[in-house]
Amino acid sequence: MRCVSTRGGDERSLTEAIAAGLARDGGLFMPAMPLPRAAGRPAGAALAATAQWLLGPYFEGEVLESKLGALCEAAFTFDAPVRWLPSPADRLDGLLELFHGPTAAFKDFGARFLAETLSRSPWGEGQREGRTVLVATSGDTGAAVAAAFHRRPGFRVIILYPDGRVSTRQAHQLGAFGDNVRTFRVSGTFDDCQRLAKEAFADDVLRNTLHLTSANSISLGRLLPQMAYYAHASLRLADEKKSSVSFVIPTGNLGNAFACLMARAMGLPIDRVVLATNANRVLPDFLRSGQYTPAASIATLANAMDVGAPSNLERLRAMFANAASAVDADWVDDETIRATIRRTWSEAGVALCPHTACGVEVLRRVRAQGGKGTWLAAATAHPAKFDSIVEPLIGQKVEVPPALAELLRRPSRAEPLEPTLDALRSALARP
Ligand SMILES: *Cc1c(COP(=O)(O)O)cnc(C)c1O
Repeated sequence: MRCVSTRGGDERSLTEAIAAGLARDGGLFMPAMPLPRAAGRPAGAALAATAQWLLGPYFEGEVLESKLGALCEAAFTFDAPVRWLPSPADRLDGLLELFHGPTAAFKDFGARFLAETLSRSPWGEGQREGRTVLVATSGDTGAAVAAAFHRRPGFRVIILYPDGRVSTRQAHQLGAFGDNVRTFRVSGTFDDCQRLAKEAFADDVLRNTLHLTSANSISLGRLLPQMAYYAHASLRLADEKKSSVSFVIPTGNLGNAFACLMARAMGLPIDRVVLATNANRVLPDFLRSGQYTPAASIATLANAMDVGAPSNLERLRAMFANAASAVDADWVDDETIRATIRRTWSEAGVALCPHTACGVEVLRRVRAQGGKGTWLAAATAHPAKFDSIVEPLIGQKVEVPPALAELLRRPSRAEPLEPTLDALRSALARP
């Protein structure tokens, strides 16, 4: 499929757009509008079959067209189940659990699909020197990308994370891979890590000697596959409950939620979409006022959503002349995140991660305002990743899922790094 930059100055095939990451004019790639209509039904009941059915039109005429089935089978190896919450008889509230992958956050879906796509792409295969995936992370992206590319022939991964600003278990995960993955703990903020990654990409010598490739959330290779779990859940609920479903989605850079808006635009039975942010309230403020005012990010309990300038907002504005007519948003402060984790544990016996708690609180508000029908809040990470926040609130240990437990048993190692390009250059010159 033809993909065009949000700024109009670059146009490529989907495979090329995925490989490029950012467009030449600095914009973000979007599939040509209008999006294809989802026609017929998936060929099987598994999430991988839904993904293949949904993504088929995007891969038509692409060099990877005949490989899409194998690609989806390899990427979608775990499910996204619905967990119902206790609710009054006239309504259904639930969680769409997106954390059953290897690093226990929804980013596993996008990272694995991207890795499968890049390693099957023509320039990926015959590449002797190999590619280097450079990723700045506020916690979850780095682990998902490292897991997806770990021991993958032809790829190296470099992770930059802000030292002391991720949870203890996130830090352990980030350093637990080794082999072709190199992890740096940067003395600085996430913004410093992002700036450093940008500078590395802008540096001709580094870019060309390392063959740098991006894996951040603006990549279409991460965005598109995220449509699959929304499509899958909405089709199942349309069959079982004879109703369309609405979603509340915890949001930072707007990648996960934008995929849901795309799935709805393709004709899936999705009703309302509501964003839930933490105290970084740029998106709710923008939708309310029409004025976009990026801000420095504020540190909150939901650290993967500490975003002051959501990167996918440019896609939202390109797709909808009036974004406020397509999507609503509300924000949740840290005190309310804590209260929601406590309340959901005592009322439902369900432990939430701080990000998911933002979604559950916004769902509660939607219901209080008379919201009708079936609603799912996206559960974006497993609460065991944030045990130091969650366990004191619920007064219990959170059971650690097997994949995460396996990572936490491995030794973990991260190299210290000053947040300058010179420091990164000399670190990379060391073996
Ligand atoms: C990345 C992340 C988010 C935010 O997702 P976006 O696509 O940036 O909006 C929410 N929750 C968790 C657990 C995350 O890791």
